[in-house]
Amino acid sequence: MVHIPGEKHTPLILSVDGVTKSFDGFKAINDLSFYLSEGELRTVIGPNGAGKSTFMDLITARTKPDEGKIVFHKDNGEDVDLTRVREHHVSQLGIGRKFQNPTVYRSHTVYDNLQLSLSGRRNLLSSLFYSESQEDRDKIHHVLDTVRLTEFKDDLAGSLSHGQKQWLEIGMLLAQDPRIMLVDEPAAGMSDEETERTGELLLSLEGKHSLIVIEHDMEFVRQIARRVTVLHQGQVLKEGDFDFVKSDSKVIEVYLGRQSRKH
Ligand code: ADP
Ligand code: MG
Repeated sequence: MVHIPGEKHTPLILSVDGVTKSFDGFKAINDLSFYLSEGELRTVIGPNGAGKSTFMDLITARTKPDEGKIVFHKDNGEDVDLTRVREHHVSQLGIGRKFQNPTVYRSHTVYDNLQLSLSGRRNLLSSLFYSESQEDRDKIHHVLDTVRLTEFKDDLAGSLSHGQKQWLEIGMLLAQDPRIMLVDEPAAGMSDEETERTGELLLSLEGKHSLIVIEHDMEFVRQIARRVTVLHQGQVLKEGDFDFVKSDSKVIEVYLGRQSRKH
Protein backbone atom coordinates (compact mmCIF):
# COMPACT_ATOMS: atom_id res chain seq x y z
CA MET A 1 0.00 0.00 0.00
CA VAL A 2 1.29 3.46 -0.89
CA HIS A 3 0.78 6.48 1.34
CA ILE A 4 1.56 10.17 0.98
CA PRO A 5 4.66 10.77 3.11
CA GLY A 6 3.70 12.54 6.33
CA GLU A 7 -0.01 12.63 5.46
CA LYS A 8 -2.98 10.80 6.96
CA HIS A 9 -2.85 7.11 6.20
CA THR A 10 -5.27 6.72 3.35
CA PRO A 11 -3.97 4.54 0.55
CA LEU A 12 -3.17 6.34 -2.66
CA ILE A 13 -4.86 5.40 -5.91
CA LEU A 14 -2.91 7.72 -8.22
CA SER A 15 0.59 9.20 -7.99
CA VAL A 16 1.80 11.80 -10.47
CA ASP A 17 5.53 12.39 -9.96
CA GLY A 18 7.55 15.14 -11.62
CA VAL A 19 5.59 15.17 -14.86
CA THR A 20 6.50 17.59 -17.63
CA LYS A 21 4.78 17.97 -20.98
CA SER A 22 5.90 20.52 -23.57
CA PHE A 23 4.21 21.62 -26.76
CA ASP A 24 6.74 23.20 -29.11
CA GLY A 25 9.02 24.05 -26.21
CA PHE A 26 6.23 25.52 -24.05
CA LYS A 27 5.74 23.62 -20.79
CA ALA A 28 1.99 23.10 -20.48
CA ILE A 29 2.73 20.85 -17.48
CA ASN A 30 5.90 21.67 -15.60
CA ASP A 31 7.37 19.18 -13.10
CA LEU A 32 3.92 18.50 -11.66
CA SER A 33 3.36 16.21 -8.70
CA PHE A 34 -0.11 15.26 -7.54
CA TYR A 35 -1.43 12.49 -5.27
CA LEU A 36 -4.99 11.20 -5.11
CA SER A 37 -6.24 9.03 -2.26
CA GLU A 38 -8.61 6.11 -2.57
CA GLY A 39 -12.20 7.37 -2.45
CA GLU A 40 -11.19 11.02 -2.50
CA LEU A 41 -13.15 13.78 -4.21
CA ARG A 42 -10.60 16.31 -5.47
CA THR A 43 -11.43 19.55 -7.19
CA VAL A 44 -8.90 21.07 -9.57
CA ILE A 45 -9.22 24.74 -10.41
CA GLY A 46 -7.03 27.18 -12.30
CA PRO A 47 -7.17 29.91 -14.94
CA ASN A 48 -7.46 29.20 -18.64
CA GLY A 49 -4.28 27.69 -19.99
CA ALA A 50 -3.19 26.43 -16.54
CA GLY A 51 -2.82 22.91 -17.93
CA LYS A 52 -6.00 21.30 -16.53
CA SER A 53 -7.08 19.56 -19.73
CA THR A 54 -3.53 18.48 -20.51
CA PHE A 55 -3.36 17.02 -17.00
CA MET A 56 -6.42 14.87 -17.72
CA ASP A 57 -5.02 13.91 -21.14
CA LEU A 58 -1.86 12.69 -19.38
CA ILE A 59 -3.74 10.61 -16.81
CA THR A 60 -5.82 8.95 -19.53
CA ALA A 61 -2.72 8.33 -21.70
CA ARG A 62 -4.18 10.42 -24.51
CA THR A 63 -0.95 12.41 -24.22
CA LYS A 64 2.45 11.05 -23.19
CA PRO A 65 4.66 13.12 -20.85
CA ASP A 66 8.24 14.08 -21.71
CA GLU A 67 9.33 13.30 -18.17
CA GLY A 68 7.92 11.86 -14.98
CA LYS A 69 5.74 9.01 -13.86
CA ILE A 70 2.00 8.56 -13.53
CA VAL A 71 1.20 5.50 -11.47
CA PHE A 72 -2.19 3.90 -10.90
CA HIS A 73 -2.25 1.82 -7.73
CA LYS A 74 -4.56 -1.11 -8.39
CA ASP A 75 -6.60 -2.60 -5.55
CA ASN A 76 -4.64 -5.86 -5.79
CA GLY A 77 -1.51 -3.93 -4.79
CA GLU A 78 -0.07 -3.86 -8.30
CA ASP A 79 1.23 -0.58 -9.75
CA VAL A 80 0.65 0.38 -13.37
CA ASP A 81 2.70 3.13 -15.02
CA LEU A 82 0.07 4.91 -17.08
CA THR A 83 2.70 6.58 -19.24
CA ARG A 84 3.41 3.15 -20.73
CA VAL A 85 -0.09 1.98 -21.59
CA ARG A 86 -2.44 2.79 -24.43
CA GLU A 87 -5.45 5.04 -24.00
CA HIS A 88 -8.07 2.28 -24.42
CA HIS A 89 -6.26 0.18 -21.84
CA VAL A 90 -6.50 3.01 -19.29
CA SER A 91 -10.29 2.87 -19.42
CA GLN A 92 -10.18 -0.92 -19.06
CA LEU A 93 -8.10 -0.43 -15.93
CA GLY A 94 -11.02 1.51 -14.46
CA ILE A 95 -10.14 5.13 -15.18
CA GLY A 96 -13.10 6.85 -16.81
CA ARG A 97 -13.35 10.34 -18.18
CA LYS A 98 -16.30 12.58 -18.75
CA PHE A 99 -15.63 15.27 -21.29
CA GLN A 100 -17.14 18.70 -21.06
CA ASN A 101 -19.78 18.22 -23.76
CA PRO A 102 -22.14 15.31 -23.23
CA THR A 103 -21.75 12.57 -25.82
CA VAL A 104 -24.89 10.51 -25.34
CA TYR A 105 -26.65 8.56 -28.09
CA ARG A 106 -29.47 11.00 -28.73
CA SER A 107 -31.77 8.64 -30.65
CA HIS A 108 -31.56 5.91 -28.00
CA THR A 109 -33.46 5.86 -24.75
CA VAL A 110 -31.82 6.76 -21.46
CA TYR A 111 -32.00 3.09 -20.46
CA ASP A 112 -30.40 1.91 -23.71
CA ASN A 113 -27.58 4.43 -23.35
CA LEU A 114 -26.73 2.92 -19.98
CA GLN A 115 -27.03 -0.60 -21.35
CA LEU A 116 -24.72 0.26 -24.26
CA SER A 117 -22.12 1.64 -21.95
CA LEU A 118 -22.36 -1.42 -19.67
CA SER A 119 -21.91 -3.76 -22.62
CA GLY A 120 -19.29 -1.53 -24.21
CA ARG A 121 -16.99 -2.64 -21.48
CA ARG A 122 -16.95 -6.15 -22.86
CA ASN A 123 -15.03 -7.07 -25.96
CA LEU A 124 -16.55 -6.64 -29.39
CA LEU A 125 -17.52 -10.27 -29.88
CA SER A 126 -19.34 -10.58 -26.58
CA SER A 127 -21.10 -7.25 -27.07
CA LEU A 128 -22.43 -8.49 -30.44
CA PHE A 129 -24.03 -11.43 -28.65
CA TYR A 130 -24.96 -9.43 -25.60
CA SER A 131 -28.09 -10.38 -23.74
CA GLU A 132 -29.09 -8.55 -20.62
CA SER A 133 -28.78 -10.42 -17.34
CA GLN A 134 -30.73 -9.68 -14.16
CA GLU A 135 -27.50 -8.43 -12.67
CA ASP A 136 -27.12 -5.90 -15.49
CA ARG A 137 -30.73 -4.78 -15.10
CA ASP A 138 -30.20 -4.23 -11.38
CA LYS A 139 -27.05 -2.32 -12.10
CA ILE A 140 -28.75 -0.05 -14.64
CA HIS A 141 -31.60 0.66 -12.24
CA HIS A 142 -29.13 1.48 -9.50
CA VAL A 143 -27.33 3.92 -11.82
CA LEU A 144 -30.65 5.46 -12.94
CA ASP A 145 -31.48 6.03 -9.30
CA THR A 146 -28.06 7.53 -8.52
CA VAL A 147 -28.24 10.04 -11.36
CA ARG A 148 -31.96 10.67 -10.70
CA LEU A 149 -33.15 9.67 -14.15
CA THR A 150 -35.40 6.72 -13.25
CA GLU A 151 -38.56 8.49 -14.37
CA PHE A 152 -36.93 9.36 -17.71
CA LYS A 153 -35.55 5.91 -18.49
CA ASP A 154 -37.77 5.37 -21.55
CA ASP A 155 -37.28 8.88 -22.95
CA LEU A 156 -34.91 9.50 -25.84
CA ALA A 157 -31.61 10.90 -24.60
CA GLY A 158 -31.94 13.67 -27.18
CA SER A 159 -35.05 14.97 -25.43
CA LEU A 160 -33.32 15.48 -22.06
CA SER A 161 -32.33 18.89 -20.74
CA HIS A 162 -28.67 19.84 -20.90
CA GLY A 163 -28.23 19.04 -17.21
CA GLN A 164 -29.94 15.67 -17.52
CA LYS A 165 -27.70 14.77 -20.45
CA GLN A 166 -24.67 15.51 -18.28
CA TRP A 167 -26.08 13.27 -15.54
CA LEU A 168 -26.76 10.53 -18.06
CA GLU A 169 -23.18 10.71 -19.18
CA ILE A 170 -21.99 10.48 -15.59
CA GLY A 171 -24.31 7.47 -15.31
CA MET A 172 -22.72 5.93 -18.41
CA LEU A 173 -19.36 6.25 -16.72
CA LEU A 174 -20.76 4.75 -13.51
CA ALA A 175 -22.15 1.77 -15.41
CA GLN A 176 -18.56 0.83 -16.15
CA ASP A 177 -17.60 0.78 -12.46
CA PRO A 178 -14.66 3.18 -12.70
CA ARG A 179 -12.24 3.36 -9.79
CA ILE A 180 -11.16 6.84 -10.83
CA MET A 181 -13.56 9.29 -12.48
CA LEU A 182 -12.23 12.35 -14.25
CA VAL A 183 -14.95 14.94 -14.69
CA ASP A 184 -14.32 18.08 -16.74
CA GLU A 185 -16.49 21.09 -15.89
CA PRO A 186 -19.70 19.20 -15.12
CA ALA A 187 -21.66 22.34 -14.23
CA ALA A 188 -20.89 24.29 -17.41
CA GLY A 189 -24.09 25.60 -18.98
CA MET A 190 -26.31 24.36 -16.18
CA SER A 191 -29.06 26.21 -14.34
CA ASP A 192 -28.45 26.95 -10.65
CA GLU A 193 -30.73 24.11 -9.62
CA GLU A 194 -29.05 21.64 -11.96
CA THR A 195 -25.65 22.77 -10.72
CA GLU A 196 -26.63 22.12 -7.13
CA ARG A 197 -27.98 18.67 -7.98
CA THR A 198 -24.75 17.89 -9.83
CA GLY A 199 -22.83 18.81 -6.71
CA GLU A 200 -25.02 16.48 -4.64
CA LEU A 201 -24.45 13.71 -7.17
CA LEU A 202 -20.66 14.09 -7.10
CA LEU A 203 -20.66 14.22 -3.30
CA SER A 204 -22.70 11.00 -3.23
CA LEU A 205 -19.98 9.25 -5.25
CA GLU A 206 -17.23 10.20 -2.82
CA GLY A 207 -15.87 7.13 -1.05
CA LYS A 208 -17.26 4.76 -3.69
CA HIS A 209 -15.03 6.11 -6.44
CA SER A 210 -12.02 8.43 -6.52
CA LEU A 211 -12.88 11.61 -8.38
CA ILE A 212 -11.00 14.49 -9.96
CA VAL A 213 -13.37 17.30 -10.87
CA ILE A 214 -12.17 20.25 -12.93
CA GLU A 215 -14.36 23.27 -12.38
CA HIS A 216 -14.55 27.02 -12.93
CA ASP A 217 -17.77 27.96 -11.17
CA MET A 218 -16.61 29.01 -7.69
CA GLU A 219 -20.03 28.62 -6.09
CA PHE A 220 -20.03 25.04 -7.31
CA VAL A 221 -16.47 24.48 -6.12
CA ARG A 222 -17.50 25.76 -2.70
CA GLN A 223 -20.37 23.24 -2.64
CA ILE A 224 -18.28 20.18 -3.48
CA ALA A 225 -14.89 21.25 -2.12
CA ARG A 226 -12.91 18.82 -0.05
CA ARG A 227 -9.25 19.15 -0.98
CA VAL A 228 -8.77 21.70 -3.75
CA THR A 229 -5.74 21.87 -6.05
CA VAL A 230 -5.01 25.14 -7.83
CA LEU A 231 -3.06 24.70 -11.06
CA HIS A 232 -1.11 27.57 -12.56
CA GLN A 233 1.40 27.43 -15.40
CA GLY A 234 1.42 23.64 -15.29
CA GLN A 235 2.26 23.46 -11.60
CA VAL A 236 0.44 23.18 -8.28
CA LEU A 237 0.16 26.72 -6.98
CA LYS A 238 -1.71 25.79 -3.80
CA GLU A 239 -3.50 22.80 -2.33
CA GLY A 240 -5.82 22.61 0.65
CA ASP A 241 -9.39 23.19 1.71
CA PHE A 242 -11.56 25.78 -0.03
CA ASP A 243 -11.10 28.60 2.49
CA PHE A 244 -7.36 28.04 2.60
CA VAL A 245 -6.84 28.28 -1.16
CA LYS A 246 -9.48 30.98 -1.60
CA SER A 247 -7.74 33.35 0.80
CA ASP A 248 -4.24 32.80 -0.61
CA SER A 249 -2.94 36.01 -2.17
CA LYS A 250 -1.24 34.24 -5.09
CA VAL A 251 -4.41 32.32 -5.88
CA ILE A 252 -6.44 35.52 -5.75
CA GLU A 253 -3.96 37.18 -8.06
CA VAL A 254 -3.82 34.48 -10.74
CA TYR A 255 -7.32 33.15 -10.60
CA LEU A 256 -9.97 34.62 -8.38
CA GLY A 257 -8.91 38.22 -8.99
CA ARG A 258 -8.93 37.70 -12.69
CA GLN A 259 -12.31 36.01 -12.57
CA SER A 260 -13.95 38.64 -10.39
CA ARG A 261 -12.74 41.40 -12.70
CA LYS A 262 -14.63 39.70 -15.51
CA HIS A 263 -17.97 39.94 -13.67
P1 ADP B 1 -6.61 24.47 -19.39
O1 ADP B 1 -7.40 23.25 -19.63
O2 ADP B 1 -6.20 24.66 -17.96
O3 ADP B 1 -7.26 25.71 -19.90
P2 ADP B 1 -4.77 23.30 -21.31
O4 ADP B 1 -4.25 22.07 -20.69
O5 ADP B 1 -5.82 23.17 -22.34
O6 ADP B 1 -5.21 24.35 -20.18
O7 ADP B 1 -3.55 24.09 -21.99
C1 ADP B 1 -2.35 24.44 -21.29
C2 ADP B 1 -1.43 25.14 -22.25
O8 ADP B 1 -0.90 24.21 -23.19
C3 ADP B 1 -2.09 26.24 -23.05
O9 ADP B 1 -1.17 27.31 -23.20
C4 ADP B 1 -2.36 25.58 -24.39
O10 ADP B 1 -2.34 26.52 -25.43
C5 ADP B 1 -1.21 24.60 -24.51
N1 ADP B 1 -1.60 23.38 -25.25
C6 ADP B 1 -2.46 22.45 -24.83
N2 ADP B 1 -2.58 21.46 -25.75
C7 ADP B 1 -1.76 21.79 -26.78
C8 ADP B 1 -1.41 21.17 -28.02
N3 ADP B 1 -1.94 20.01 -28.40
N4 ADP B 1 -0.52 21.82 -28.83
C9 ADP B 1 0.04 22.98 -28.45
N5 ADP B 1 -0.23 23.62 -27.29
C10 ADP B 1 -1.12 23.04 -26.46
MG1 MG C 1 -9.32 22.99 -20.44
